[in-house]
Amino acid sequence: MSTSSINSRRRPPTHCQCGKPLARRVAWTNINPCRRFFNCRNSTNPGMPHCNSFYWIDPDLPNEWYKSQLLELYLTLNQEQRVHFLGQLSAQERLEILQDEFDVYQNEIETEIEAMGNKKAELEREINKLKKKTSFWRKFGICVVVLLVLLNFYVMK
Ligand SMILES: [Zn+2]
Repeated sequence: MSTSSINSRRRPPTHCQCGKPLARRVAWTNINPCRRFFNCRNSTNPGMPHCNSFYWIDPDLPNEWYKSQLLELYLTLNQEQRVHFLGQLSAQERLEILQDEFDVYQNEIETEIEAMGNKKAELEREINKLKKKTSFWRKFGICVVVLLVLLNFYVMK
């Protein structure tokens, strides 16, 4: 398992090398208790082909004391408490995912509004152009009519 860190980047990639959306998981090892990471969705399915994509979500815990305390707390929870605890963790993650999605949609909507503003300005320019053209042809038409009337007048004479 390679351990390319994502700490320097704001957003980790969304897909693994297989082209599948990455799975969010929580490590509960001695070295990395309660540390979230992304890896291949298939890595937990025995027999399924999977890739080595792996990205830490959280930074390393600052010292061994926190690590040992977290692990100890986790291990002292009974099964029911542990399920509840993990449920809360995943609820927090779902919230983060929703927040991320919201940000994406908001950006998309803002971009769309901007594009519509540009389109509106473009259409306004087009309308003005057409108005100018129309007034030119109207004047031209009036001139022709006047000329015809004058011509008619002289010919009749
Ligand atoms: Zn994969």
